[in-house]
This record gives sequence, structure tokens and C-alpha cells, in this order.
Amino acid sequence: MYDNDLSASDSAYVPNTNDHEIYPSFSKFTFRPRRVVFYPKALDYPLGKNLYERFRREEIPIEITNRVRPIYGNPRQVFLEAKRTLVVGVRKDLRFPTCKPSADYQFPLTSSCPGQCEYCYLHTTLGSRPYVRIYVNLDEILNQADQLIVQKVPNITTFEGAATSDPVPTEKYSRSLQQTIEHFSNQEFGRFRFVIKFTEADNLLNLDHRGHTTWRFSLNTERIIKQYEFGTPRLTERLQAAKRTVNAGYPLGFLIAPIFLYPEWQKEYSELLHQIARSLPGVAPTFELITHRFTPRAKKQILELWPASTLPLDEEQRQYKYGQFGYGKYIYPKETMPEVRRFFEENIRGLFGAGLVSYLV
Ligand code: SF4
Repeated sequence: MYDNDLSASDSAYVPNTNDHEIYPSFSKFTFRPRRVVFYPKALDYPLGKNLYERFRREEIPIEITNRVRPIYGNPRQVFLEAKRTLVVGVRKDLRFPTCKPSADYQFPLTSSCPGQCEYCYLHTTLGSRPYVRIYVNLDEILNQADQLIVQKVPNITTFEGAATSDPVPTEKYSRSLQQTIEHFSNQEFGRFRFVIKFTEADNLLNLDHRGHTTWRFSLNTERIIKQYEFGTPRLTERLQAAKRTVNAGYPLGFLIAPIFLYPEWQKEYSELLHQIARSLPGVAPTFELITHRFTPRAKKQILELWPASTLPLDEEQRQYKYGQFGYGKYIYPKETMPEVRRFFEENIRGLFGAGLVSYLV
């Protein structure tokens, strides 16, 4: 997938950190890497060169290498340090995987993110070293998107910019979202969408987007955010950011995910929906609804990182289902889904209007 394999070398990177430290160098949720690793080819691109100069000026340790030094420590130290390591590379694989049900294709803007959600889907796809990555060859990536759009004209082709990351934390360095939104504003048959928890993206508010980009905010109940979404903006901050998005004229959506079916789930998801309605009077956002699921690989990693995790990870309580990417996952039993569907569809219709649930899985 990447320009070079991140395989082990003899000299390990030993982080200067302790196990309990969370984002010591972050002001609020602003991402500031502790070290930056450049693949040599990235320096052939203007963005790579600019980033190199910027991090040099900011005195952030830089390495130029084809082999990212592995991090030494216990699983949690390795995980935290990987989340503070920014890798600047060239995206060589320009095949875009499908992205059902949210879009036609994944759009590879960045990967990973500095957040630490216990349930994160990246535990399955990125493994134990989820380095935060920026790709410097955005023009080539956009060009590939254009070719896919042309193949389907006059149908609209949609691209998901957050399939493997939350793209906002690296935006201040890459301006990739900005460039992508501006690019899609000129696309008659292409649409861009991304979903985020991080909110520092005000540079995107004044763009001439022409309604071709949809912002969605990932939300959950206060209980779930507090219990499992570490290092991410709180619910009220996300709702305030959603309001700014609407004021900027962007189409708005919410991703409620993962939905957990705990004893008070109906009461608390109802409170969440009412809170959204109070924050955005008169707005009719779309809703994407994803119930909690986990893979065996994710479970193993979650329990290494958070041995006392209270996430519901009991396979006996779930149903096994094969997914579109060739691996299976444990989902809630299908008998529970009609009740979940009824609850969300009724509440969303009552508060926001009909036809706003894009999908529930
Ligand atoms: S914000 Fe999203 S991508 Fe980042 S850790 Fe949380 S779930 Fe994963």
C-alpha cells in the first residue's frame, strides 16, 4: 500500500515517554508530532520540501529513511508513540478500494489519526503501529479520482476522504482537505465527503465548495465518548463545529457510530438526537448509523492496549459476518436490528424529517 514497507531495522526508536502520558505537546487537540519521518521520495514533491523546512524550523526531530525505525516499549508505549509519529510519504498504490455503504470509493488523503478511541476500526487495518501519514502526491491522487469519475459519467461518483483516518489533525500541515474540496468544486459528476471528530478545520469554511463536499461529524452518547474516545474533542465542540459548517453552506451529515446496545441505549441515544436538534434548529442533516462490530485482530489489540477495557467484546453475544474486505467481524445478532432500526428511524423522522437515514448497518 505504501511506497516502502515499514519493516524492522536493528536500531529501535526508544520513546522518551511514560505510560500515562497523553498528548503532552498538544495544545487542546492540535496535533504536533514528536518526530517526523520522511521517505526520501517525498522530498521530490513541493509539499514534502515545504514540510521538511517547516519541521526543521519548528525543531521537531526529523529522519529521512526508507525504513521507519521500530518503536521500543510495551504495547501501549509503542501505540502512543506511533500516534505521535508523522510519516511523510508518496502514495504509490492509486487503486481506490470500494467504500460501501458511505461512498463509491475510498479516497486516500491521509491515514491514521492522533485520537485514541478504544473501538477504532484502525486496530484491524493498521495494526500495532498506527503512524500518522501524509501523502505528498495529492495531485496524482486527485488525477486518479478524475479518471474514475469520467468512467461513470453521467452518474455521480462519490469519494470518502476519511476511510482510513480522521483527516483534520494533519490538515494544518498538508492542506489536503482544502485542495481536495477546491478540486471537487469543479467536478460536475464527482462528490467528496469526509467524516471527523476533530474540529480545527476553520480554514475550510470560506472555500468555494459549491455544495460538492459533505461534512459529517462522528457522534456518540456522552457516556460512550467519555468511556472510549480518548484524545478527541467532546460532543459540544463537535456540535459547535457542525454549526459553523452549516453556516458555511456545506451539506451536513452525522455518523452515529459505533452504536452500542447497553441497558440505557434508547434513553441516551434519544438524548443525543435531541441535543443535535437543539444545536441545529431547522437543519435537516443526513444520518449514517453503524452498530458496533469488532474483528478478532482488533479485540486482541484492544485488550493489549487497554487490558481493563469495558468494551463489549464477547463473541458469544454476537453473530459472525464476512465483510467486503475479506475478513469477518462480530456484529450484534440480526434479531436485534429491527428494534434499532425502528428506534432511530422514528426518532430521526420526528426530530428532523423523513428520508434522512442514509443507511443503518
Ligand atoms: S477519531 Fe476516528 S480514526 Fe481517530 S482514533 Fe478515533 S475512531 Fe480512530
